[in-house]
Amino acid sequence: MTFSDLGLSPKVLSAVSDAGYTKPTPIQAGAIPHALLGKDVLGIAQTGTGKTASFVLPMLTRLEKGRARARMPRTLILEPTRELAAQVEENFIKYGKNHKLNIALLIGGVSFDEQDKKLERGADVLIATPGRLLDHRERGKLLLNGVEILVIDEADRMLDMGFIPDIERICEMIPFTRQTLFFSATMPPEITKLTEKFLHAPVRVEVSKAASTATSITQRLVKSGNKPWEKRETLRNLIKAEDADLKNAIIFCNRKVEVSELFRSLLKHDFDAGALHGDMDQRARMQMLANFRDGKLRYLVASDVAARGLDIPDVSHVFNYDVPIHAEDYVHRIGRTGRAGRAGKSFTIATRSDTKYVDAIERLIGAKIEWHDGDLSTVTESEGEDVPRRGRGAPRRAGRKDEDRKDRGERKKDRHAKRDEMPETAREEQPVAEVADIAERRARKDAIRSENERKGSGNRHEQRGDARPQRDRPGRHREEDDATVGFGDDVPAFMRIVAKV
Ligand code: AMP
Repeated sequence: MTFSDLGLSPKVLSAVSDAGYTKPTPIQAGAIPHALLGKDVLGIAQTGTGKTASFVLPMLTRLEKGRARARMPRTLILEPTRELAAQVEENFIKYGKNHKLNIALLIGGVSFDEQDKKLERGADVLIATPGRLLDHRERGKLLLNGVEILVIDEADRMLDMGFIPDIERICEMIPFTRQTLFFSATMPPEITKLTEKFLHAPVRVEVSKAASTATSITQRLVKSGNKPWEKRETLRNLIKAEDADLKNAIIFCNRKVEVSELFRSLLKHDFDAGALHGDMDQRARMQMLANFRDGKLRYLVASDVAARGLDIPDVSHVFNYDVPIHAEDYVHRIGRTGRAGRAGKSFTIATRSDTKYVDAIERLIGAKIEWHDGDLSTVTESEGEDVPRRGRGAPRRAGRKDEDRKDRGERKKDRHAKRDEMPETAREEQPVAEVADIAERRARKDAIRSENERKGSGNRHEQRGDARPQRDRPGRHREEDDATVGFGDDVPAFMRIVAKV
């Protein structure tokens, strides 16, 4: 089968051919003909299967007739995250290059004004995250009764993030006569209920078993001691051993504190690394992703925020620095490699305490994962020592000052522990800025310093505020303002503890 067998318009076919695609993937072959006939589609497919084009291409063909009116978008695509929404926009630009369509992207973390202007002009395609869409609607700037096609993408991810009530509200605002294209990698009961309520006689297209992993990925487990420095060493050795095959890699951690620590450690060891997690502001996240995609960064240390849905073609390796606590995250993480039939490798660093999580993953994917270089039977867990001994002798006995410092550290740790222990996916839309991005902080500090120099003495908080990036108006899922803790960024040098890596 070729793309021209599917009923797509000549303009769309020409853009697909320019993109270099000749053969539709199974989800495209299954969904596109029905979508072109105006039927509701229930697509059960993971990212990496070509599912974005399976709704973008028929939408473009159908949008060739008719025009958009101010504030009344003709189509609406709902995505759970800003990155996914931006990726769908890129797809519309790529495949819609022969069309003159107005595309509006409504995501958090960027100003309302620009988005308002695009809505005012009339959007043929509106791509949005649910929170920001409802914010626009509540401000009276958006009418949804002209929507002819509604796409709900990554529905199971929407469920994870607590967006289902928002999705229901949005579905109720859109005319009953619309066409709905609905995609989910898995079909938990809540999602099935949603489809029963809002889809009309949908055509079901299922392209692979839910929660299965692509066969083009070579998966290995790698034994390690349990201490962070041991795991970091294991990772570095692994990266070095894979060097010849390794084009680029995403390295996943379970918690954002680990993302920051590992990122700093890799930089110290001269790896060309960037970091990506939910506490970074939108601009920094997009920039980091763009640098990785363009090959300016070889390694991207990421939390699960980056695991699902991101289309970064040609990632040769995925490293799980931590075994994911939720087995499904494993499938999504390693799905970043081996995309569209290309070969990929994934290595999961496992310690003795990870055994139960590894078992759960193997149960989910229905297969045993091979060990890379022997299993954990030869590994003895080191007790107590969090850092390798350096130089001569054993570590110094803790004195009073050390104890005080430890207490302070523990108290601070307690304050953050609850939040840090949560998987990032649960917190993505309510981030608390802590270690957003080293570069951004440095820039902010420089701005504060020059502002101080300019003004002489003055109110420190005002100056900090001036130098901070402009935040959004409060909205349902607005990002919280950075809370200043203790000295904030201005910790005196003598109080800084240099992290051993
Ligand atoms: P998606 O599942 O939409 O995230 O797409 C995964 C990757 O497959 C993207 O990099 C697409 O550009 C690519 N892709 C989409 N359709 C095709 C196709 N028919 N043949 C080869 N690659 C494709």
